[in-house]
Amino acid sequence: MNKFDYMEKHGYEQIVYFYDRTTGLKGVTVIHNTTLGPALGGTRLWNYASEEDAVMDCLRLARGMTYKAAAAGLNLGGGKTVLFGDANTVKNEAYFRALGRYVQSLNGRYITAEDVNTSTKDMEFVHMETNYVVGLEGKSGNPSPITALGVFHGIRASLKHVFGSDDISNRTFAVQGTGQTGYYLVNYLVEAKAKKIYFTEINQKYIDRMKKEHPDVTFVKPELIFGLDVDVFAPCALGAILNDETIPQIKAKIVAGSANNALADEEKHGQMLKDADILYAPDFVINAGGLINVYHELSSYNREAAIHDTEKIYDRLLDIFQIAEKENITTHAAAKVFAKNRIETIAGVRSNYIKR
Ligand code: NAD
Repeated sequence: MNKFDYMEKHGYEQIVYFYDRTTGLKGVTVIHNTTLGPALGGTRLWNYASEEDAVMDCLRLARGMTYKAAAAGLNLGGGKTVLFGDANTVKNEAYFRALGRYVQSLNGRYITAEDVNTSTKDMEFVHMETNYVVGLEGKSGNPSPITALGVFHGIRASLKHVFGSDDISNRTFAVQGTGQTGYYLVNYLVEAKAKKIYFTEINQKYIDRMKKEHPDVTFVKPELIFGLDVDVFAPCALGAILNDETIPQIKAKIVAGSANNALADEEKHGQMLKDADILYAPDFVINAGGLINVYHELSSYNREAAIHDTEKIYDRLLDIFQIAEKENITTHAAAKVFAKNRIETIAGVRSNYIKR
């Protein structure tokens, strides 16, 4: 793939390669779009099969961050960093400080955070060299409870759209995965007096925790979670679980959960859900609570303000569902329209010159 053609086609601004001789740090930062603000996206460390695979992953993830931030109403653009390496051997203080220096060299056009195989502890080392890093210990904290809160409000919006009422108490739920986000989601649903909740999990520790804390929440085997006769199916485990095999099994009227990239193929499986009359709450809109939370670190962090902004996922999803209906497109496509509209509108607002 010719990178310049790809950048032109999808509107990328910058691809930055870096290599640090002392630590062996190798990576790439992609800045997709900074119309709304600095590009923010985590740093992923992965042993990619090839350099081409790594750069393509980074390009794809950076673009996803642009839409996620735009749809979340944040003044952020989309970016991402991938590091090429084996997480079991390369990580140490010097390695992440070297990364911090590259982040600093972009002078605020890009802000990083933790992602797959990088932790808040690693980001502390990054922070020794740059302030352009979020998700630090002692600041916005664990993003999962607030991500789950956003999913909870997104589920309420989905109920409102389908049934005309967002009341949780006479509805039934199936939650796939109760590690972090799924666990907190179940807590919110229990608190809102959900009529019935089923869950599935593959980690015995989390199964035991749920059984102990919520004996009325019923465990089912992983393969049975899709076909349950419930109102809402909430995928909170892996990506690509909405596919040719699983969608025909789903009886729920709503699919709304935290899982990133839940649709195996955005267009095909988004359309399959639409054709089956199942409302899909687009992942990058409903699971934006964690991003909204770290965004608030950029000013002085205020938990209440972050929660307040996360609650807005409710209205945002209702708008997106309306666009989908009006345009007769999938909700996933409508979410992209929503995000692009915001970017274009704000770019227009900023087109007149103001002396700074
Ligand atoms: P997690 O690892 O804490 O929880 C996922 C759970 O799913 C694990 O406990 C795992 O055992 C379980 N699981 C895996 N495969 C399963 C299967 N086939 N059946 C049943 N259970 C299974 O992860 P998390 O942080 O809760 O994230 C879940 C999803 O939400 C991921 O796709 C993640 O990218 C996305 N997400 C998370 C956040 C966040 O703030 N944590 C934010 C945005 C998106």
